[in-house]
Formats: sequence, C-alpha cells, structure tokens
Amino acid sequence: MKCSVCKKPAFVKVRYMKKSYCKEHFAQFIESKVKNTIEKFKLIDEDDKILVAVSGGKDSSALLYILSKLFNNVVAIHLDLGIGEFSRKSKEAVKELSKLCNVELKIYKLKDMVGFSIPEIKLERRCGACGLIKRYLLNKIAYEEGFNKIAVGHNLDDELSFIVNCLISGDIKQLSRIGPKTQTKGKLIGRIKPLYKCYESEMKLYCDAVGINYVKEICPFSKGAKQAVYKKALDLIEEKSPGSKLSFINSFIKKIKPLLPKEEVKLNECKECGFMTTSDVCSFCKLVKRIK
Ligand code: SF4
Ligand code: ZN
Ligand code: ZN
Repeated sequence: MKCSVCKKPAFVKVRYMKKSYCKEHFAQFIESKVKNTIEKFKLIDEDDKILVAVSGGKDSSALLYILSKLFNNVVAIHLDLGIGEFSRKSKEAVKELSKLCNVELKIYKLKDMVGFSIPEIKLERRCGACGLIKRYLLNKIAYEEGFNKIAVGHNLDDELSFIVNCLISGDIKQLSRIGPKTQTKGKLIGRIKPLYKCYESEMKLYCDAVGINYVKEICPFSKGAKQAVYKKALDLIEEKSPGSKLSFINSFIKKIKPLLPKEEVKLNECKECGFMTTSDVCSFCKLVKRIK
C-alpha cells in the first residue's frame, strides 16, 4: 500500500476517501479538514481570543496541536480533576503538549476552585456532575479572563452518538441545539468544535502520525455509557458502508436541522453566582449544594 500523494509506504488507508497516506500526508489531510470546517462554519475570526480545553486525551490534544499550527491567538486550559494517577498523567501529558505547541497553558485545580475533587462526589451520576462542573468552570474562566471562544475536542463520533441519543429519546429541543458552534450570549461564552468532521479513529492516528503523547488510560469512573453503544453501532454502519458517518452529519446539518423548531432560550443571571441560566439558580450552584 502506497501513499496516494507521494508514493512512499502508506501509514493508513482512509476508506471513505479511497486513498492511502503516509504519516506526513495523513497529517496534512486532517489539518486541511479541520481548516475547512473552521472556514465553512465560520468558527474563528482573526480577532478572537480562543481558550482550548485540553484534557490530555487524543481529541483535545490533537485539537490544540492543529489550532496552534493554524492560529496565534490560542491559549490552552487544563482542569485538574483530582482523579489520582489518571489526573497526574493527564496533567503531565498536557504540560508536554503545550511545550511542543509553544502555547501558554493555564492549569486550574478543581479542589481549589470548588472545594472538592471528582472522587469526592458521591452522587450516582458522577459523570453527569463532572461534565456540568467542567462546562461551568471553563465558561467562568473564559469569561473572567477575557476569552470570547472556547474550543473543545468533540469529534464526529461524539456528535453523531449524541444525535442518535436525542433521536431515540425524542429530545427535539436538544437536537435543535446540536451544531459545530454556539454563540456568545452575555456571560455565556460561545463554544466551537473544529473536529466536527473528524472521525474518532482519525484523531488517534493523527496523534501517532505527528508524535503527540496523549493519555491512553480511560478515567476510572467512566462507565459503559449509552453513547459508547451508539458509537459501536455507528462503527458497524461505517464498516459496511464507508463514509456513512460523514453523510449522516452532513444531511443532519443541511436537511434535518433546518426543519427543527428554533426556540429562543431565555437566559438570565443566576441569583447565586451571576452566570447565565434558564432558571433562578443555575444547575452548577444547585449541584455544588447537593455535593457539599
Ligand atoms: Fe469526568 Fe466521567 Fe469523564 Fe471521568 S469519565 S473525566 S468522571 S466525565
Ligand atoms: Zn505521502
Ligand atoms: Zn449559579
């Protein structure tokens, strides 16, 4: 198998493209896909100040690496969740990566910010709580430090499994909000997903191709979530019919999303913390009270 561009021995075959690439040309292929996504969906403007959320995993690591090649206005942020060895390795990987990318890195410790770390949460839905806390704190830090966009490492498989989940549960409201970006509204900072068209498997290969040392272990609290089942089902479809995942997201954005009702969400400031919420007190403040 030879690279379709330079004819050197190939590193990977991209079945939906009917092409093979060496490491160098695979990296170029992924980078140009991300660049096209950014341009097509107008994710980044020249004067943006972008905070890139980096966990130490393959997706966010690849994201930081690519954005730092394409733009000067990026700063990395890592939340230390206090999950023992997993968090220690994650922090080390992120430090190494930010040096490789020559990007400023901000590290915040959850324990210092809210008074507890993730293992101390005794709620049944720990992952749900962790997700909410991470979203809230990233937004708060971005707002307080003058960033106007938060870039996250959501890939194509993440987005599709979320769409499937919404379809199965009939959650039209959530479905109508799905997309590669959200707008900034007051203290709610817009989020962008430059890896929107990148397969999860491509992110692992990209990291290997360019030499990014990401954390391979999974969080000890991660349970076989529903999303993982949907991802496997989508993999099966992709295996039988290469390119199905890309067709799915393209037809969702072009044909399905425009048919969904657009509901303007009314936001006001939380009575306790002052950040944006749809009710009197935001979910983060309610959650922290329950945990404490
Ligand atoms: Fe947090 Fe769950 Fe992810 Fe672990 S698996 S980092 S607890 S959301
Ligand atoms: Zn090549
Ligand atoms: Zn609040």
